[in-house]
Amino acid sequence: MKASNVSVIEIHAPPSGAICDFCSGRPVVFTYEAQDFETVESVMQSVGAWAACAECAKLVDDRNIEGLLDRVLAAPLFARMVRDAPGEHQSMLREKLKEDYYAFFLSKGAKTPYEENAKL
Ligand SMILES: [Zn+2]
Repeated sequence: MKASNVSVIEIHAPPSGAICDFCSGRPVVFTYEAQDFETVESVMQSVGAWAACAECAKLVDDRNIEGLLDRVLAAPLFARMVRDAPGEHQSMLREKLKEDYYAFFLSKGAKTPYEENAKL
């Protein structure tokens, strides 16, 4: 096989590829600018904007952090972690997420409609 026959397959995320930075759901409809930050307890490093689905964006706009935690912890990604974790770890997970979200709320900037080609 000649080298010229080797084709480079470019992988593009489908339009629905972006996921919500909170619940991991789709579609993403808004992004929030955010100052970069790190959290101590959860050792989370946030760089750049956060993507949000419609439901999470509503909770963010309402500054409903407990509602956001309820929603995120019930989402498939976290629901499994919560289900498999011992009791004390479940509340720890919630506390760590809460710290992340508080830091996000403090660093959050403008909300803009999500564009498919936006870099997150
Ligand atoms: Zn979401």
